[in-house]
Amino acid sequence: MVDPSLVRSNQVVDTFQGSSRTTAEDNGVRKYIEKISSASGLPKPLIALAGGDPTGLENVHPPAVVRDKLTQVVHSSNYNFYGPSGGLLTTREAVARYYSASCSVPLKAEDVFICSGAAGALDLVFASLCNPGDNLLLPEPGFPLFRAIANALNIDCRYYQLDASHHFSIKIDSIREAKNERTKAIVVNNPHNPCGHILSLEEMNALVDVAKELKLPIIADEVYEEIILEPDSKFISFLSFADRVPVLKISSISKLYVAPGWRVGWCVLGDKWNALEDIRVVMKRLSMRLIFPCTLVQAVIPTMLENAKLQRQQVVESIRQNAITFQSIISSSSVAGLEDISIPQAGLFLFVRINPSCLHSLTDDVVFVDKLLQEQAVGVVPGQAFGIRNYIRIALTTTVDNIAEAARRLIYFCQAHPHSLASSSPPFPQK
Ligand SMILES: *Cc1c(COP(=O)(O)O)cnc(C)c1O
Repeated sequence: MVDPSLVRSNQVVDTFQGSSRTTAEDNGVRKYIEKISSASGLPKPLIALAGGDPTGLENVHPPAVVRDKLTQVVHSSNYNFYGPSGGLLTTREAVARYYSASCSVPLKAEDVFICSGAAGALDLVFASLCNPGDNLLLPEPGFPLFRAIANALNIDCRYYQLDASHHFSIKIDSIREAKNERTKAIVVNNPHNPCGHILSLEEMNALVDVAKELKLPIIADEVYEEIILEPDSKFISFLSFADRVPVLKISSISKLYVAPGWRVGWCVLGDKWNALEDIRVVMKRLSMRLIFPCTLVQAVIPTMLENAKLQRQQVVESIRQNAITFQSIISSSSVAGLEDISIPQAGLFLFVRINPSCLHSLTDDVVFVDKLLQEQAVGVVPGQAFGIRNYIRIALTTTVDNIAEAARRLIYFCQAHPHSLASSSPPFPQK
């Protein structure tokens, strides 16, 4: 409150207009996360399954050796200095080593930029490739963070399509159609959030071919690279195509290493022909502006990567268990309205198709999600936040008890909205 005595009666107090770098539609997922966490007057304890934060899993944490290392690093006082832009050399070397087997060209420390999470890496890469008014090709449906970052940088977004009726495979022709003279890169998200599929080798080959044809580099967001839920599915990094097309691979410790709050991610450049030389210079200069991330956490990354295997098993096992639990409860109920509850190939989410024609008064995914929150206190994200109607995204990053309870509530919810001709129109029209 402004003290009234300080405001002279004849003074007009100006208000200040924010910039237009962001719109209300940007990053729709976080909007739902906030809406759900602030919901009041719910009939039951809230089960929030909107955000994919793996710290919600039961008893899954960074391993003790990693936590001990962080304590040591803090007590040593050796990591309190301003870190070099691009990251600590030992951290960049560790990341380069970690991916050297999956990359078709040799990786050096200078090919790695340590950033503030995958989000920071995307921001750095987008800003280094594009001037205002240039554009990027993004997947639709897809993760809305791409658009939020592009908008803030005045980069236009153009969309290529994933085919919902064919396991969300990429419609390659739609990439050609979306490209114009100001397109700077193709953004691929593999494994895909929210759809949970992994690109096959054939699809990757087709994508690399079209990138070569259009003379565009590939920005590959691979943050779910090791969270493979279907034992027969195989993930291949786009780095293995770096001998054919320039690749900017993005990943982070947030999902697999269960430490999203530590804010460490990276961009790895796979660039056989040195086509990204100038981009690299810009990335280096731009990363001098903010100098990220915190050196204490960077110093722990080599230990984290060395202990990746145990971590991977724990995360994958809990997510898979949650997916199976959810699927078996829903399918044993034979409730109408929920379709395609298959276990995703990868990632942290179920992406379930809903059928509004089987559900009374639930006209689309947005209405479904709002009423599900109000009536059953389960928070999920509607497909429209990702650019597709009549899907809901359910995060599997919680306890197995919560997942089971959420599945039961979803069944009650659908049963409470039966589609019955009798309730909407009389069975025998009078005249
Ligand atoms: C979670 C997520 C990110 C952001 O990861 P951070 O490392 O936490 O910044 C980026 N891309 C996708 C597809 C994600 O799901």
